[in-house]
Amino acid sequence: MAVNKKAGSTKRYGARYGKRLKVKAGLIENQYKQRQKCPYCRKVGVKRVAIGIWGCGKCGAKFTGKAYSMGVK
Ligand SMILES: [Zn+2]
Repeated sequence: MAVNKKAGSTKRYGARYGKRLKVKAGLIENQYKQRQKCPYCRKVGVKRVAIGIWGCGKCGAKFTGKAYSMGVK
């Protein structure tokens, strides 16, 4: 089986879902796994602590956002 680099971390989903959906899910996953910029201290230290809840490791701020992204760019 050829490895599809675009599918990335979604390989575990197997072939149950379409390729397009897997790529899309992968993008969303990467978005919420990566540390993001804190809207309070402007440092990149924000991680999702729960669905819809984000916490900043630098200033300790906790705030709500979208389930899979902060909704703040
Ligand atoms: Zn912060």
